[in-house]
Amino acid sequence: MSALIKQDVYLKMECYQPVGSFKMRGMGALCQEFVDAGRTRLFSSSGGNAGYAIAYAGNKLGAEVTVVVPETTSDEVRQAIQAEGATVQIFGRNWNDAHEEAVRLAERENGGYIHPFDHPTVWQGNASMIEEAAAQIPAPDVILVSVGGGGLLCGVMEGLQRHPPWRDVDVVAVETEGADSLKRALAAGRLIRLEQITSIAVTLGVKQVAARALEWAQTPQVTTVTVSDLQAVTACQRFIDHHRVVVEPACGAPLSLVYENHPVLQSAGSILVIVCGGFGATPALLSRWKRELQAVSKKEGDNL
Ligand SMILES: *Cc1c(COP(=O)(O)O)cnc(C)c1O
Repeated sequence: MSALIKQDVYLKMECYQPVGSFKMRGMGALCQEFVDAGRTRLFSSSGGNAGYAIAYAGNKLGAEVTVVVPETTSDEVRQAIQAEGATVQIFGRNWNDAHEEAVRLAERENGGYIHPFDHPTVWQGNASMIEEAAAQIPAPDVILVSVGGGGLLCGVMEGLQRHPPWRDVDVVAVETEGADSLKRALAAGRLIRLEQITSIAVTLGVKQVAARALEWAQTPQVTTVTVSDLQAVTACQRFIDHHRVVVEPACGAPLSLVYENHPVLQSAGSILVIVCGGFGATPALLSRWKRELQAVSKKEGDNL
């Protein structure tokens, strides 16, 4: 990738975490905090990488984990969560329903509710990736990071503040079109709620970002960029060819800026990409999404 755009590109391979994503860090930290405080029953409402990470972390910590997921969650995901010893409960039609149920259960059982992105301990856990990177490479000019609810962005920003030589590093926050809750909040100058998520990058499909993420995005240190689903998926496929590593479109989004030599990288000499990973993609799924996206864009072209 460095040769491709004639800049130094560094990859923080969060996809190599035991659960396939950086979620291990923040979710693990919050699970640990609850267990240390004597709560041995943990509840989550994520049918994605967060739920999987909580199941894994809870298992390692000897806690009992219940993951409430909406009806739409696939059997594959349910099985992966169950394989980590967690109980899967199906409730409601969408994440919001499942979330409310998980919060209710946590209260009733005096357990801990693990929020997937909006919690200071989650940000602190995620910040550890910058600590590690700072021990490995000199401060880059730019860090590329994707944004769903903004827990990853908050973690990266917190990590930067803790390491003075890295404090002023520019950060580019990348979303996909149709999951761009941060970019729209920035434009509105306040938190907004997307009516619906239309991106295939479901991992980034959070309707309202954390307030802290918006605050960071409002500082001059952070720039936001959106890319199309097709750009994100294409980047995932190129990443397989280059590195033999499969990641979700949520992670293809920041990678696509490098592959397309995006203008935002123009004056950067060195770039660090947070390869956030994700266990929800396979080469076959990526090919299918690509075909579907190309069919849609052809149809739209025909209608012009
Ligand atoms: C959760 C997740 C994101 C987004 O993180 P937020 O903290 O919600 O912004 C991006 N990529 C992957 C693979 C994820 O699991």
